[in-house]
Amino acid sequence: MVARWAHNPKVVGSSPAPATKRNPLSICQRISHLIEFMHKSGFVNILGRPNTGKSTLMNALLGERLSIVSPKAQTTRHRIIGLLNDDAYQIVFSDTPGIILDPKYKLHHKMMRFVETAFQDADVLLFLADVFEKSADLKGILAGAEKLKIPKALILNKIDLIKEEELQNKIKEWQQENIFDEIISVSALKKTNVDGLLEYILKRLPEHPPYYPKEELTDRNVRYFVSEIIREKIFNNYRQEIPYSCEVAVTTYEESTDIDRMRAEIFVERDSQKAILIGDKGSSLKKVGMEARKDIEELIGKKVYLELFVKVKDNWKDDERLLKSFGYE
Ligand code: GDP
Ligand code: MG
Repeated sequence: MVARWAHNPKVVGSSPAPATKRNPLSICQRISHLIEFMHKSGFVNILGRPNTGKSTLMNALLGERLSIVSPKAQTTRHRIIGLLNDDAYQIVFSDTPGIILDPKYKLHHKMMRFVETAFQDADVLLFLADVFEKSADLKGILAGAEKLKIPKALILNKIDLIKEEELQNKIKEWQQENIFDEIISVSALKKTNVDGLLEYILKRLPEHPPYYPKEELTDRNVRYFVSEIIREKIFNNYRQEIPYSCEVAVTTYEESTDIDRMRAEIFVERDSQKAILIGDKGSSLKKVGMEARKDIEELIGKKVYLELFVKVKDNWKDDERLLKSFGYE
């Protein structure tokens, strides 16, 4: 599990032992139970259409770069948990893939399954729309949100891109939908009103002991982040269909005291894509490797030796076995 960028403290601490009649609670244990009782924790799930800024928002809320971000839609393919820990609370955020209305591949269906579960297990729902979306275009999705009997807020993102007057009109438009108990306008990128959003969440968070050890930041391991960092570099370095044709798997990871050695395979669908990915004399792939290595070194706080290989697997997006090996259950 990953605790922090460049910092991996050990998992410690457990709940106090349960009391029995013969072994009544000491004052200390009673206080500790009381604190645990008052402790707040819950699942705060971020949903919305692709490219609305869900990953940027989760990173802003956590103050960490956990989820990969790119200007292209459908960058996020998994559900990623990010934990915001405090003595009094633990917020379990879920960043999710953007809602795709017309899934084309098995990959898309699996991505949408992550979205469905995120709708189902939320204690608080944050539905993200950017200021350019029209509520009328989201009717189908909103019908799902409307049925949920949990606190739910509409987060109107990217307010840095419009004027105050336009924003007020947008807010009115959404108020008329009458689905959300609050409309909170933010700029995830500029971190505007992220504190206001946090306040809303803490007010609605149920009383519950923490779901995860308090030192952790996420439920994912280092290998997962390594593959995501490589994917992010591919999303940011290539145009058109290349990023959508790629999946990354870390095949070996050898740790040592001063350097970690890892090998990752990038799967594409066609030979022509492989050629583009590698580039002239390997220059493009080299750039991806260099950028990824820098970020991985920052993540683990150690030198990294990273080898990248490109493999052609036509149809991986519809190949049940391969999808499973990439973590799409
Ligand atoms: P996701 O697909 O919903 O996870 O969206 P991302 O977080 O990957 O963001 C998509 C794009 O929108 C990226 O280029 C972000 O930098 C950009 N973005 C996200 N939030 C904001 C914002 O508040 N303002 C502006 N101007 N851009 C944003
Ligand atoms: Mg995303």
